[in-house]
Amino acid sequence: MADLEYREMQEILRRHDFHFKKKYGQNFLIRPDLLHDIVDGAGVTDEDTVVEIGPGVGSLTRVLADRAKHVYAIEVDDKLIPILDETMRGYDNVTIINDDVLKVDLSGIFSEGKVKVVANLPYYITTPIILGLLEKDFPYDSITVMVQREVAERMQAGPGTKDYGALSLAVEYYTDPQILFLVSPDSFVPQPKVGSAVISLKKKDLTEQQKADAKDIFTVIRAAFNQRRKSMVNALSNAGVLGRSKSEITEAVQAAGFESNVRAEVLTLDDFVRLTECLKG
Ligand code: SAM
Repeated sequence: MADLEYREMQEILRRHDFHFKKKYGQNFLIRPDLLHDIVDGAGVTDEDTVVEIGPGVGSLTRVLADRAKHVYAIEVDDKLIPILDETMRGYDNVTIINDDVLKVDLSGIFSEGKVKVVANLPYYITTPIILGLLEKDFPYDSITVMVQREVAERMQAGPGTKDYGALSLAVEYYTDPQILFLVSPDSFVPQPKVGSAVISLKKKDLTEQQKADAKDIFTVIRAAFNQRRKSMVNALSNAGVLGRSKSEITEAVQAAGFESNVRAEVLTLDDFVRLTECLKG
């Protein structure tokens, strides 16, 4: 079916008396070329089941539905549902789920098969959405999403930089990230105040052991970065991490090969894995 042109989008929004809601991070893409670039970047084929988060009026949903086997589109805003019913008319491979993506149990819906996540994400909840997808045992094979440019950079940041933190480490643990392209604010209505980027996160094949270890490793990482200006020993002992005392934490930090005043931002992912092993004893 044809792309949803900007004029058609405006006409539908007017007819339904739709008003953009800032609280839902509603910035709709108005450039069909970019919609196709996102779907190309995700490598969607007619064998793929796709999950789209926040379909809006359905412009990306249409391009996805033209290429995928099935699209599940999760939209929180009730006002967009009659609009989506209209823009998706004629498609028998689209399921609209009217819910908050943070409350939907994706692992319950997609317990098997491979799923691609493709979305122009609502920026106000990018981090919980991405962390939720990574940490649940949900059978996606890639996540291709438009995010705020700064967040895309944070996802790829390495040790010793100001952007480095729990999000960068989770992305590195679970996926191979790659920024595909940058997008300027004038590609959306209303225009966001920030630049955007499309990033691809390809799922790594983790061993069962790595999956099981993740919970403790990320408990340590979160505690360390929650107080990133403090020494690691202080940050971890203030959080009472893994039930350890301050002296046990000091010993573990030293056993992992660091000075007791080391700060979280210099540790690599492998360092955190080793430190967690030492903390567990
Ligand atoms: N996909 C459309 C596009 O590219 O034009 C809209 C993208 S817009 C940046 C984000 C969309 O996510 C909006 O439709 C918004 O209503 C929806 N949204 C916001 N919070 C949500 C949530 N918690 N769960 C599901 N959808 C949400």
